[in-house]
Amino acid sequence: MLAQRTALFKSSGTAAARTAAKAAAASGREIIDLTAGEIWSHTAPLVQEGAIAAITGNVNRYTDTLGLLELRHALARKTSTETAQPWSADEIAVTTGAKQALFNAAMALVDPGDEVLIPAPYWTTFPAQIIIAGGTPVFIETRHSKFVPRLADITAAVTRKTKAIVINTPNNPTGAVYDRDTLAGMAQLAVDRELWIIFDECYGTFAHSPHVHHPIVTVAPRARDRTLIVNSFSKTLALTGWRIGYLAAPKTVIGAVKALQSHTTSSPNVIAQHALLHHLKSGDTAFQMQLQRQVADGRALGLSVLSELRSVPQPIAQGGFYFYLDLGDLQRSAKANGRELSADDVASALLTDAGVATVSGTAFGDPIGLRLSYGIDRDLLDKGLRRLTTTLNTWN
Ligand code: PLP
Repeated sequence: MLAQRTALFKSSGTAAARTAAKAAAASGREIIDLTAGEIWSHTAPLVQEGAIAAITGNVNRYTDTLGLLELRHALARKTSTETAQPWSADEIAVTTGAKQALFNAAMALVDPGDEVLIPAPYWTTFPAQIIIAGGTPVFIETRHSKFVPRLADITAAVTRKTKAIVINTPNNPTGAVYDRDTLAGMAQLAVDRELWIIFDECYGTFAHSPHVHHPIVTVAPRARDRTLIVNSFSKTLALTGWRIGYLAAPKTVIGAVKALQSHTTSSPNVIAQHALLHHLKSGDTAFQMQLQRQVADGRALGLSVLSELRSVPQPIAQGGFYFYLDLGDLQRSAKANGRELSADDVASALLTDAGVATVSGTAFGDPIGLRLSYGIDRDLLDKGLRRLTTTLNTWN
């Protein structure tokens, strides 16, 4: 008999969509996979160089639980530059991807019975981790406000039990980038109601002009002592498989995270740490900028193909590398013809009829959306979106 806890969560919806795509491809069909939360790219040369040097130098031991001190210094400098505030190494924990940083945050902050506010649609792992920690996710609907939460809605959701709010901008899956005023309002609310802010900026380098990513502590320095910044190199340097991220937070939080991490993963992978340190020390930004251009190019191409869609409005695509389609009109016209059409139905029909794998909005608590990643190879993206557009246009 398994622990009751295992009934509280299931495998990530995005991972399940990826598995379905792979299974369909295994039958020999060409499946264009738009499910991936990652960018198609080779590995940054400096990351390769740092890793190779570590391997040939026989680097093979645990590091300090919170990561190499030199790397924590480098990440503190990075955070200082990005937030225009001074950060020190003892406010940094290096983690096994942003996912572990978020898990650490949930375990360090949330008591059983605590409520945590999460704007919806949400990245599927946010509520799962809060639940694992014994808390209760409380969702703030954002669909009616172009996927940027309204302050009035957040305020109305705060109760005596509210412990924290999760803010993810640029947002996965919606592609929204939160504006300064929204962030300032959220920060003020957190200060007034003594809430923690879990600020996930994993897509911070992908804000598409004229949209600009704002770290919340820059907009509202007063919120700094209650903010946990979560970031990683999975998206910014296309290093999803290297599993390296970090948390920047008040020292008390970092202390609790150190104790927790010492019992879970010990230190993050030492080769990945050295590789990243080598990259950061070089000060090189060329690779990151190349990825930004690649993503911007995929976005422009994708928006142009998707503009042919007849019953689906253009996605907002302000940041990140996801198009989040609104299936509302398609669903309404199906209903008028006596047919229910869920987002799951659309995703599975696209896989079967068009050979295109997408993620249904139900994975993000939203039965109206469909997420398409434009981080893949340009030609495949073009082909996949054309197939998808042709198929959806036959459903009008
Ligand atoms: N946060 C968000 C919003 C994400 O979309 C993802 C991955 O998709 C993560 C965190 C996890 O990133 P990592 O690969 O660094 O664990």
